[in-house]
Amino acid sequence: MIVTLADDAVDSGSAKRFLAEYGLTDVVPATIGGRRVLLVEGGDEELAERLRALPAVRSVLLPTSGNPLAERQSPGADSIVSVGGIPIGGDAFTMIAGPCAVESREQLRDSAALARSAGTVILRGGAYKPRTSPYAFQGIAAEGLALLAEVGREYGMPVVTEVVDVRDVELVAAHADMLQIGARNAQNFTLLTEAGRTGRPVLLKRGFGCTVAEWLGAAEYVLRTGNPNVVLCERGIRTFENATRFTLDLAVIPVLENLSHLPVIVDPSHGTGDPALVAPMALAAAAAGADGLLVDVHFDPANALCDGAQALEANDFELMMKRLEALLAGLDRPIARRELEVAP
Ligand code: PEP
Ligand code: MN
Repeated sequence: MIVTLADDAVDSGSAKRFLAEYGLTDVVPATIGGRRVLLVEGGDEELAERLRALPAVRSVLLPTSGNPLAERQSPGADSIVSVGGIPIGGDAFTMIAGPCAVESREQLRDSAALARSAGTVILRGGAYKPRTSPYAFQGIAAEGLALLAEVGREYGMPVVTEVVDVRDVELVAAHADMLQIGARNAQNFTLLTEAGRTGRPVLLKRGFGCTVAEWLGAAEYVLRTGNPNVVLCERGIRTFENATRFTLDLAVIPVLENLSHLPVIVDPSHGTGDPALVAPMALAAAAAGADGLLVDVHFDPANALCDGAQALEANDFELMMKRLEALLAGLDRPIARRELEVAP
């Protein structure tokens, strides 16, 4: 049951006491999509009717389908997700970049340095890599998490990294400012729920076979835990087209702007699989209203252990960032910056 509190409700005490009298104690308060809600395990129509009579309650839903928490309930109430103090959503445009995989301290530091100097505010890097072949490099796991946290601190950037297994959720949440759920796990509902329960922001990739409704359903699993901090990431879908690695669906940006209050960013690296296509698609995503980008950058793409063929090297990334800044200035949109400048 979803109990939405009235805008002028001072506290949720009366509704909570009422629920407790009914024996419902699994009650999670949250603010989602601009609404203060109580997420209640259980409930029935009779209870809903009685709750609706309370002055502190605006509405009560007993959903049996759909994605009421992910959907936009009122115009203008956009969610802004804070990742270690860096906002995603609202007016700001937020750059996330880094290597596809964490390989070593030196590789991560060099890649972080180039990402940061060009204007990146959140560092990415996979410690666990979901690879199509079990014989391909799988990531350096816990060692990678520790390196990511260390280098993020050193360079003053919050970090995002993928969690591929429900058994690793706690460890990843202990090291990362944001948990990434990858395209291949986009409908792993247990993983989504456990990631949500950590309270960490969740970067939710679109499954490459998922419709928008299915994608919002995945977001709903996270939001249902009371964690409002979900960022959607378009990363390309499977179509008959094979001139690009996937087909980057940029029309989904304005579609989601209408349907959902959640921020939407775009990953042009995995979406195209080709460094020559990353900058054009990054600019197009910004022009279409994306809240930010997730980009693979590597100081030495030719020797990368994962997805080097799609990573941008320093010069191309800097050039892309210059063009992006000019475009965003023309659109009157500020680029999210670090609050605090930290060495080096
Ligand atoms: C990634 O960002 O490293 C990644 C594996 O992306 P996706 O899940 O979109 O393929
Ligand atoms: Mn990759």
